[in-house]
Amino acid sequence: MTQPLDFQPIFQAVRQAAVLCRRVQEAHLVSSDKGGHEPVTIADYGSQAIISRAIAAAFPDDGIIAEEDGGQFIELVAQEQRAEVVALLSEILNTPVTQADVVRWLDHGQRRETARTWVIDPIDGTKGFLALRSYVIAVGILVDKQPVAGVIGCPAYPTKDNAGALFHAQGGVAFMQPLTGGAVRRVRVSEHAEASQVRALESVEKSHTNHERMARVREVAGLGDATLTRIDSMEKYARIAAGDAEMYLRLPRLNSTRPFMIWDHAAGTALVQAAGGMVTDIDGSPLDFSQGRALANKGILVSNGRVHERMIAAIQQVLSESE
Ligand code: AMP
Ligand code: MG
Repeated sequence: MTQPLDFQPIFQAVRQAAVLCRRVQEAHLVSSDKGGHEPVTIADYGSQAIISRAIAAAFPDDGIIAEEDGGQFIELVAQEQRAEVVALLSEILNTPVTQADVVRWLDHGQRRETARTWVIDPIDGTKGFLALRSYVIAVGILVDKQPVAGVIGCPAYPTKDNAGALFHAQGGVAFMQPLTGGAVRRVRVSEHAEASQVRALESVEKSHTNHERMARVREVAGLGDATLTRIDSMEKYARIAAGDAEMYLRLPRLNSTRPFMIWDHAAGTALVQAAGGMVTDIDGSPLDFSQGRALANKGILVSNGRVHERMIAAIQQVLSESE
């Protein structure tokens, strides 16, 4: 048995990153007189800097695979926006921050081969973030290239008090707490398997997946009457882990050559598996996190386990029809 990791510094970092994201949304999206900047860029770099800084302090020898890096921050982000990131970080972290600190945090742990590797998506669901829909801040942990643990901050998760939700998985158990802090409770996938009870999820963005073929798959699986909700980001994994939905299919568009990236799925996979659900490729084989930054998979099916086999069979039938 390995010692459980203390996730408190990561929880704190995800909360701080969520504050930064909201501040950027308010300044650049909600208030029109300050428009014209690139909020995604600012929030992505700021969020990753906060999370990598926390990992560097709490787990200094661990490797990190993350979407952004320090070189891009200097090359791609205008001086004025970099200054804005530095100012926001100084305020939210309540300590003086320099541009050199930001570059160092963004690069920390990257290109380092370690048995335990943190996988960061500083803002997953960028289009949802921009449109004020759902997005998440995701931190997965690979041990020997398997997604075994993770933390996902979901600022837009539907809860009674609108506080958002913070999920984590560790030691094969999944948990949920209010994003702003409070009672931590264990979560599990639902037992639902009947079409009338099944809540299906898919991406909002038409360009990300093949909505038509996924509808056909549900029909063939006998789940044509399932409720369908479109949500951005890995919040889809969180909803299944919490028993708030039963399945999520990601079938790429027919002409897509874009690979899945590990930061879009590592934390979610760990969370759903810990909650008792299943995450596989569309032929039922496991997702392969061993190939670096891209996943070596053709599609993704996430479920509570109860509808998995039926969906895999339906996917294979629909794929053979379109060959
Ligand atoms: P979702 O909201 O579930 O579609 O997931 C958002 C993620 O989709 C982003 O983090 C991107 O990595 C990924 N993504 C962005 N553009 C595309 C695309 N054209 N095709 C497939 N995935 C994409
Ligand atoms: Mg992403």
